[in-house]
Amino acid sequence: MSLIKQLTADFFHLLFPECCNACGTRLFYGEKCICIRCLYDLPYTDFHLYPDHPAAKLFWGRLPCQEVMALLYFKKGTKAQNLIHQLKYKGQIDVGFMLGLMIGEKLLSNPSYQKADLIIPVPLHRKKENSRGYNQSKSIADGIAKILQLPVVTGLLIRQTDTFTQTKKSRYSRFENMQSVFKLSKSHILKNQHVLLIDDVITTGATLEACGKILLDSGLNKLSIAAAAYAE
Ligand SMILES: [Zn+2]
Repeated sequence: MSLIKQLTADFFHLLFPECCNACGTRLFYGEKCICIRCLYDLPYTDFHLYPDHPAAKLFWGRLPCQEVMALLYFKKGTKAQNLIHQLKYKGQIDVGFMLGLMIGEKLLSNPSYQKADLIIPVPLHRKKENSRGYNQSKSIADGIAKILQLPVVTGLLIRQTDTFTQTKKSRYSRFENMQSVFKLSKSHILKNQHVLLIDDVITTGATLEACGKILLDSGLNKLSIAAAAYAE
């Protein structure tokens, strides 16, 4: 960074100090998005260290996954919830990228993830992405891609409907309903590939299951999942 750029950055930092997206305190110079204290304090799952963790079990019998990983436990009133809130509703795309970098660093210890061919973020419906201005899962995917050196592919998996109703329907009806939410624009590209599918939070797993089934139907070799958080 040139001296002028550095001085300008310092000046803006003084005028408009950034705050930690997890705890709200003012960031020190050199900190970005999340303060160092929160980086140590966040509720990490360490799911990447053992295969039969709760997020993996969620997909047992539903979706054949090579690997499943979520970085943080998502609980109400926690720093993890603050981060996801800032990412989804406050325009803090950098939070997604940072969480993606952190996920990528954890995945480096798992050779299976490094053998993935491409990354696909769970898509938003076009209208929702336009009103939000970005897809939060794409920003997480970009961070992971930077560490794992993999391409991020968008526009292939498409969300056709914005919302779907789940109430008063049988489990199969809900599943059918979810299946119609997504479609693939081209499928031949995915043949024999190992796709890493990215979402912000794993809750019921219904969205990832629907996306994953469509991807697997197109002749994938393997499907793995990574998310910023897992809701217990
Ligand atoms: Zn903090």
